[in-house]
Amino acid sequence: MKACRCSVLSTFSVPLCLVATLLVAAAATAVPVTTPEGSVEVAARGDLLDVLALLRLTGAEVGFAPAAGSFTATLADLEVQFTPGSSLAVAGGRLLDLPGPLRQMGDSVFGSFATAAALVAPLGWSLGGPPAAPVLSKTTARERLILTVVRAESGVMVVVSGTARRPRVSSSASAVTLQFTAPIELGAALPLADELRGAELGEDSITLRLAPDQEMASSYPLEDPPRFVIRLQKAQPVVPMVQQPQGPVIVLDPGHGGEDLGAQSPTGAAEKDIVLAVARGVAARLQVAGITARLTRERDELVGLAERTAVANRLQAAAFVSIHVNASPARSARGAETYYMSADPSDTQAAQSAARENVGASEDALQLILWDLAYVANLNSSARLAHTIQERLNALQGIKDRGVRQAPFVVLTGATMPSALVELGFISNPEEANRLQDATVQDQLASVLAEAIAEFVRTPSLDIASPPAGTP
Ligand SMILES: [Zn+2]
Repeated sequence: MKACRCSVLSTFSVPLCLVATLLVAAAATAVPVTTPEGSVEVAARGDLLDVLALLRLTGAEVGFAPAAGSFTATLADLEVQFTPGSSLAVAGGRLLDLPGPLRQMGDSVFGSFATAAALVAPLGWSLGGPPAAPVLSKTTARERLILTVVRAESGVMVVVSGTARRPRVSSSASAVTLQFTAPIELGAALPLADELRGAELGEDSITLRLAPDQEMASSYPLEDPPRFVIRLQKAQPVVPMVQQPQGPVIVLDPGHGGEDLGAQSPTGAAEKDIVLAVARGVAARLQVAGITARLTRERDELVGLAERTAVANRLQAAAFVSIHVNASPARSARGAETYYMSADPSDTQAAQSAARENVGASEDALQLILWDLAYVANLNSSARLAHTIQERLNALQGIKDRGVRQAPFVVLTGATMPSALVELGFISNPEEANRLQDATVQDQLASVLAEAIAEFVRTPSLDIASPPAGTP
């Protein structure tokens, strides 16, 4: 049985494991479920319903990935992924906090009525009625979207409010499409703006037609109240299309950006610029090595922490590497460090680094520091990734090994693949700050990171999906 990991950042944790252990297997019964096609019997155990059967009733195909131990229900271009024993699911690339855990019983998976309802929702269905006689129907309640245009120094933003759902975003040369998981309507007329030429409203999607000189720069969710932001920019010159990825995709995440400068050197150099330069170098080298690399931000812009891993989840990346530089009140602190996710920081300094990098995380993101699915499944691979990177950085820098550490970095919590966070050096150390700004040094760092990532990707995985016995 999987170890309980409920003690993580206790303020935000939910004692789901306790609930899970109190559940006792109940005798098999069946409940009548009303569907648009008529009444269908679905297996039940006590208060728990057969969620695989319910998902299939929506028309979804349910597949099982033995390596990950997870199920994926796919309906058109919508999908939801979940794992027995876990109360986390992934829908549209994002972590979904289920009301209760899923349990494998017999040859199916069972969950509470509320959990079953939460799993069918991302597929555009709702489970209503009394739990003893549930009604499964296509979601009809329309979410009333309000679109506003906000002009800021950093550019023009289209802000979508009126729904807590995070849309799947796709953009082309002159349009941005937001695909929601429920029917939508416009609560007010489209705002007048030179950048917007109009909008086409679908059943559960909206396509914004942009002026010819506009394109989407980035998109990210905001909380309190929930909003979704699409940042526009003047269209960039067309660059040749990268070939459709064939092999593994690596997602590189240059930390910070836009108004979030990250750490700063005594002379005012910003972390956000150094890490972008290095990440671009890593991406270029990986591409040369035949490994597709994508950046979570291509330029100096602010991207939400959750959006960064969502990119990697959508691309089903083989690894996610977040790139940062460190700062310490001790000006003599120097050298690279590599981190992977852990419930508990390995030491005080690891805790400080995490606290610094987590600034800007919403409570929503912090709530998702619940493990299972994303964490345990990738723990050993993440450790291997971090060690591979750190070994090469140590060799390059020829200094005392600051080593691999563990800490709860919010930017890594949503990743459903092996992930690590690299602090390239200490920008608070004047000497090291100078080196980190040196193009030659950035180049060396980039090539070492690319080598390490390529080695990680090409080494057959021997990682076992269980936590290691001790902490390093
Ligand atoms: Zn940082």
